[in-house]
Amino acid sequence: MFDNFTQDIKYLKGVGAVRARLLNDELNVYTLKDLLYTFPYKYVDRKEYYQIASLREGMSYVQVKGQIVNILTEGEGRKRRLKAIFSDGTGFMDLVWFNGLKYVERSLKVNRPYVVFGIPSLFGHRFSMSHPELSDISDTPIREGLYPYYNTTEKMKRNGLTSKMLSELMSAALATLGKSMPETLPEYLLRQERLIGLNDALQYIHKPNDYGQVVSAKNRLKFEELFYIQLNILRYAKARQMRNSGQRCAKVGDVFMNFYNQKLPFRLTAAQQRVIKEIYRDMASGRQMNRLLQGDVGSGKTMVALMSILIAVGNGKQTCLLAPTEILAEQHYQTLAHQLEGLPVTVALLTGNVKGKARGRVLQAVASGELNILIGTHAILENTVSFLNLGFVVIDEQHRFGVAQRARLWVKSLTPPHILVMTATPIPRTLAMTLYGDLDVSVLDELPPGRRPVKTIHMYKENRASLYESMRRELQKGHQIYYVFPLIKENEKIDLQDLEHGYEHLMEVFPGYKVAKLHGKMHPDEKDAVMQAFLRGETHILVSTTVIEVGVNVPNASVMVIEEAQRFGLSQLHQLRGRVGRNSEQAYCVLVTPYAMSETTRKRIEVMTETTDGFKIAEEDLSLRGPGDLEGTQQSGMPIELKISNLARDGSILQHARDVARQIVDGDPECNNPQNDIVWQQLRMQRKTNINWAAIS
Ligand code: ADP
Ligand code: MG
Repeated sequence: MFDNFTQDIKYLKGVGAVRARLLNDELNVYTLKDLLYTFPYKYVDRKEYYQIASLREGMSYVQVKGQIVNILTEGEGRKRRLKAIFSDGTGFMDLVWFNGLKYVERSLKVNRPYVVFGIPSLFGHRFSMSHPELSDISDTPIREGLYPYYNTTEKMKRNGLTSKMLSELMSAALATLGKSMPETLPEYLLRQERLIGLNDALQYIHKPNDYGQVVSAKNRLKFEELFYIQLNILRYAKARQMRNSGQRCAKVGDVFMNFYNQKLPFRLTAAQQRVIKEIYRDMASGRQMNRLLQGDVGSGKTMVALMSILIAVGNGKQTCLLAPTEILAEQHYQTLAHQLEGLPVTVALLTGNVKGKARGRVLQAVASGELNILIGTHAILENTVSFLNLGFVVIDEQHRFGVAQRARLWVKSLTPPHILVMTATPIPRTLAMTLYGDLDVSVLDELPPGRRPVKTIHMYKENRASLYESMRRELQKGHQIYYVFPLIKENEKIDLQDLEHGYEHLMEVFPGYKVAKLHGKMHPDEKDAVMQAFLRGETHILVSTTVIEVGVNVPNASVMVIEEAQRFGLSQLHQLRGRVGRNSEQAYCVLVTPYAMSETTRKRIEVMTETTDGFKIAEEDLSLRGPGDLEGTQQSGMPIELKISNLARDGSILQHARDVARQIVDGDPECNNPQNDIVWQQLRMQRKTNINWAAIS
């Protein structure tokens, strides 16, 4: 029974060695089970037929019954295309192919009854369909009902693995297996949650008769997916708690007290005090801390980090602070070194930029235990960096950091260090639950006193003159300005050109002021010099790419101009905006866009002008873009690939699945209740996959 389900995909009728390789490589499908767990991304209802005369612009998939009356090729070379004139008696339509011409041409027949299926688009006065699906209905009639659509890649299509073919493979797989798929959820859970069985669910998701079946299949499969994710996370979290192996930092320590009494440059906000207490309680508990600190931009996370670090140092531990960019690491280093002046605490910087002898000295001080605080980029994660007794780690602006990278910190110490992850991109609850599992969460929900919300203004490119006017007023007050251009990988050259032109243009517009430019392609030393000059107030306008996006702190800067704002994601805009408004003066953020924008883009810009609440923005971002696109989750690699659930939409299923998982973990801690046999067995099977659950719990 099990064997069928895990049978190698290559033995399935219609697959074979070549296609099997493609399914492995492109879809990560190795077994029949993997195949059946590849779900359609949509369904199209093919009950209805349309007449050519009734086609309208903007229609989605339609099907039309008729005949080809003529076939011709047009264009030369790469522009060559094949065109078939199609008629159903009510009008004419063009069917067009841009590739695979020879093959298509051979298979097309004039004057045979066809059903064509595709998206009609209007060119001039005539509709056309490119690469439609064509069925000769003289031999096989079209099956009515819902047709599933599967994602494929160009490579797959070239080998005949189209969406349609995948659908046929699903039929073959379902037929091979009969109803012999082993259930993955226990009987009592199915009843309790009113879910359909796995065999029905797989049948309905691939071969539904109606939408009702699709819905019940989706409910069941989403629950299963989210339930096992949560179960895994909760089990590991529990195991970790039970191991009870944290480095105890029992006292607050002299370093902390001396800093607090002599060096603290301002009064802590109530929120900062509360969070420092929460962290200290964890550190003193003897259990390992895993805490996520969410605090909007400018809420003062750095001070919380510093003071927690000082507690660890006072307890004889080494500590490190990880930043996502060199600029930020450098800035943290400057700030901390300055604030700790005169205290018996050693601080060093380690980035890719620290080389040769200097690097050797740092590594030596880290290894000997002599260094108290190491600040740096991911260079700290390298194997050559080994601590004598690492006890506390802060990861700033976590969304840039991969889960896998975080896991590498754990092995730097026999007993895992306490970990504080800080982020200004509030992570919506559903996402946090999946990404970070059981991380405890602290929130800095208060800005330091006297802050005024940044005023955000949307402006079309054409109106730049008034922008320059406002900029001039701010410069006259002695304030500084950020001027950001997008840098999207694909057109790096064009983007840098934009930045270059912008830079030159601004120098012309503001002749009395110093303008500097900053981008990732510059030499690290050069970047550093530019940033330092801006920090010291020696330059007035900093023209830059998003390298300044996170963390940079220049309180005297009061204007953030973002060109081509429509090309940025919401969280990114929010981060950029967070660079200003860092003291009690009114600050401004200007979003410059062209007039023409899509509906969602306009919505994004609107959200920005309406709110400065990072949490609202993150929620909007999640629902506008979906979690896969959410800032950071892509670079950092979501640890779990969701096959059917959608974190933006399935929040309530997730919450429910988590509750059920929690009941099982708590109610059956020894895993010996026979009614949960299936659950534990399933869990063991899942653990064989290479997701590092320990790292995300
Ligand atoms: P973020 O949370 O975005 O990392 P920072 O830690 O960079 O914010 O702090 C922003 C600014 O606020 C810094 O200039 C910092 O010195 C200042 N700051 C932090 N806490 C306070 C406070 N309690 N009172 C006044 N200013 C503060
Ligand atoms: Mg910060």
